[in-house]
Amino acid sequence: MSPAATVTFTPDQRSRQSSGARNVPVPVVAPKKKANVLALVIFIACLGMGATVGLSLISETHSEFVARGGVNMFIGNLTALVGTYLALIMVLVVSRLSFVETVLGQDRLVRLHKTLSPWPISLIALHVFFTTIGYAQAAKTGFWHQFGTFISSFPNMLTATIGFILMMAIAAISIRAIRSRLRRETWWSIHLAMYLALALSFAHIIALGPAFVGHPLARALWIASWLGTAGVVLVYRFLLPVVRSLRYSLKVVEVKQENSEVSSIILKGTNLEKLRFKGGQFFSWRFLAPGIWWQAHPYSLSAMPKPPYLRLTVKNLGDHSGSLGSIKPGTRVLIEGPYGTLTAHSRQRQHALLIAGGIGVTALRALLEELPAKSKPVVIRRVRSQEDLVLKAEVEALIKHRRGNLYELIGSRRHIKFDGPAIQKMVPDILHRDVYICGSQSFVDGIIEIVKDIGVNSDSIHFEAFSI
Ligand SMILES: Cc1cc2nc3c(=O)[nH]c(=O)nc-3n(C[C@H](O)[C@H](O)[C@H](O)COP(=O)(O)OP(=O)(O)OC[C@H]3O[C@@H](n4cnc5c(N)ncnc54)[C@H](O)[C@@H]3O)c2cc1C
Repeated sequence: MSPAATVTFTPDQRSRQSSGARNVPVPVVAPKKKANVLALVIFIACLGMGATVGLSLISETHSEFVARGGVNMFIGNLTALVGTYLALIMVLVVSRLSFVETVLGQDRLVRLHKTLSPWPISLIALHVFFTTIGYAQAAKTGFWHQFGTFISSFPNMLTATIGFILMMAIAAISIRAIRSRLRRETWWSIHLAMYLALALSFAHIIALGPAFVGHPLARALWIASWLGTAGVVLVYRFLLPVVRSLRYSLKVVEVKQENSEVSSIILKGTNLEKLRFKGGQFFSWRFLAPGIWWQAHPYSLSAMPKPPYLRLTVKNLGDHSGSLGSIKPGTRVLIEGPYGTLTAHSRQRQHALLIAGGIGVTALRALLEELPAKSKPVVIRRVRSQEDLVLKAEVEALIKHRRGNLYELIGSRRHIKFDGPAIQKMVPDILHRDVYICGSQSFVDGIIEIVKDIGVNSDSIHFEAFSI
């Protein structure tokens, strides 16, 4: 890289609008709006669940229920509908639907996705079991014979069986003991086959489901909800990222070594003044370089955009983050986002406390830039060594301009006491501040617990853990 290309992200103190990226109004997420969106989402989900259960109840006649195998067939039908409905919800939760993502935050949605996932899988497995037993009882035959008859004689059952096997295989590799042996990217790529598994099972539900055979309205609604979900995934997960990446046309222009483990990567693009980015948010980045082009990883911007430039600052923790330190200028970059709710817009109070663990300073450094000049932020940085205080001068300048205070806690856990009393000593007015926390999962979890014990209200705690 020629030295002439060096780009500085030194905070410009003249105005928060100085970056040029602020020309686009940034929506403020008031807590009331957050609660309303959450209530609306839960209401729609419950309504759908009620309709799904109702569908399986009204499609069952009394004579069918009391006939040989009827109870098992009914359970099979109910578990199929509820299981696939939950599978659709699971897909929607991580579909990057922007209004839900903006309010609830990607980390919470991913956690919800993880919590939900055993349910549809178990219910669909129960569906296969009970439906086969029910039909076997009715036909006075054995389980495996009936299973074979399904595949050989029933419409769309071969594809549905392949989908089911695929689904069970994905469930198996997602078990913690197995998953922890796989590379994250390997697991991630295989787990995307869940879309295929669901698509393969679709036709048999419509062709054979008692709730849909002879019930055109139920059939039309079910098809619409599947197509709607597929449309949302296609638009938000695939089309929009491609369109945005083409619009911004990002390329690496410079890599700056911050310390032996951390590098800042500066990118140049077009139309970046239209980027609706809020300090503290992150993107999913795909660097089109040999060996890593197929992986997308989340990194926060470590400064507000300075069109035509963006900057991320990355610590070498593995193969992807490690390779960015030597990424070649000119490398094209695709982005998905911005995501995240760790922003100045979720503030409840005038003053803020920012607590950064290690590389977690990146998001908070960008967020600081958006805090008003009178916000008097207190910033606590917790690092293992002096060298880990990356972006030190920038953070100091931003705090100074806002007449805030900086505490740098350097050293091992054995030597540095970082508990409730220590925090209260540094920030006696903590109960009158919003608390922003960013760092590793264990760091964030630990600090949340401490500040809650001190008495900080949950609404005033905002966090981003650098792990998914
Ligand atoms: C919202 C968010 C913002 C982040 N911002 C920054 C940042 O500004 N600077 C920075 O240095 N790091 C940031 N990270 C962490 C960064 O994403 C991981 O360090 C990186 O993806 C590790 O990948 P790897 O292949 O280098 O290492 P791996 O060997 O794959 O993993 C090392 C560690 O990173 C975690 N990890 C791996 N891949 C991912 C992934 N795709 N998503 C989440 N966690 C993963 C693993 O669980 C493991 O703990 C952020 C993470 C998240 C979730």
